[in-house]
Amino acid sequence: MSSDALRARSLRAVWHPCTQMRLQERLPLVPVARGEGPWLVDHDGRRIFDGISSWWTNLFGHCHPRINAAVVDQLGRLEHVMLAGFTHAPAVELAERLAALVPGNLGHCFYASDGSSAVEIALKMSFHFWRNGGRPEKTGFVALEGSYHGETLGALSVTDVALYRDTYDPLLMRCRTVASPDARAAAPGETAADVAGRAAQALEAHLAEHHASTAALIVEPLVQGASGMVMHDPEYLRLARALCDRYDVLLVADEIMVGFGRTGTVFACEQAGIAPDLICLSKGLTGGYLPLSAVLATDRVFGAFYDDEVARGFLHSHSYTGNPLACRAALAVLDLFAEDDVLASNAAKAARFTEALARVAAHPRVRHFRHRGMIWAFDVADAPPDFPRTAFEAALARGLLLRPLGATVYLMPPYVIEPDQMDWIAGVVEAVVDL
Ligand SMILES: *Cc1c(COP(=O)(O)O)cnc(C)c1O
Repeated sequence: MSSDALRARSLRAVWHPCTQMRLQERLPLVPVARGEGPWLVDHDGRRIFDGISSWWTNLFGHCHPRINAAVVDQLGRLEHVMLAGFTHAPAVELAERLAALVPGNLGHCFYASDGSSAVEIALKMSFHFWRNGGRPEKTGFVALEGSYHGETLGALSVTDVALYRDTYDPLLMRCRTVASPDARAAAPGETAADVAGRAAQALEAHLAEHHASTAALIVEPLVQGASGMVMHDPEYLRLARALCDRYDVLLVADEIMVGFGRTGTVFACEQAGIAPDLICLSKGLTGGYLPLSAVLATDRVFGAFYDDEVARGFLHSHSYTGNPLACRAALAVLDLFAEDDVLASNAAKAARFTEALARVAAHPRVRHFRHRGMIWAFDVADAPPDFPRTAFEAALARGLLLRPLGATVYLMPPYVIEPDQMDWIAGVVEAVVDL
């Protein structure tokens, strides 16, 4: 089928996500035929570098031979079985290995299918934890300004991105937001840790007043993704952990984007030396292969549900919970981390890429150039409203997939990126900023 025919049929039959379909008609869809490491290859054989790891999911490039082999092997054994009343080795092994990897003692793994459903689970679990503990009035949630936790109704209730939220606001739970520890808010002479301290004071003021009705605080540790790769100092997480302990509020770490090495450590919370009560994982979990998510809980949370009474158990299920193919892809991802010293190799690559981006960082239109682990971001001064579209098109014309968030350009490449690709990408980004 020709690219044009595929585009036309897609516009008719597929309702694309996060897309005004009418505007999409003027911006040709990219029909992707196959993937090859960090490259996407379209139907005409044109190669596009996946600079944002396909919405932050793809850790080790497309069609990785070792992940492919694991999924193919599992395909010949068991494609799926329900996880209520049944179990299987991939789900068990993955739960055990995740528990060993995440900070703290989060030994009870609840599976779901995507990031938003993991967040829904963390919210329901937090509420039900307190209810089972005789404190049913603890029903509220606190999130940070600019937070993004997904777009299903519960997850959207703790999301603070106007574009996704405002239209559906009448349907949402009333949640509270507190100041973001956004390091860009530093006054002259102030450090990112100072900003974190100030934001923690705002959290404390909120909890001092509302702790009795608050079930949990949910945060994206170190980097708030969808609102513009907003970075903060690990100090915030330490202070937030202490405040949650003091005020009897659960701490939910949404590591859906930042998990699995993206910030330089396997999990972002490690950099603060803290452990949450619940951790949400998805996106990179299967290396971008299959939809899977997990919420890992402490003994304390799990224990509050452990009872003879059915209704005190956690009442939640998804049809594809713990899908064996997805679990095997995730196990292959963990094998890559274990066998290839990915964190050390990423640290070297990150230093090299930061160097390659020096001219971008020094560009007169670039503000707040920031970097953590395998994430780079900056804001473009005086970006016109259509900047995300024009920048996307300009980069794509040069063979690079970029998807700016408002005036923020970010790079989140697959970990298989090579030095010559970094230099080329830096040049493309510079050209895009020069537009
Ligand atoms: C993407 C994302 C989600 C939602 O995950 P989906 O799989 O898209 O539902 C939740 N939280 C964070 C931090 C995310 O980046």
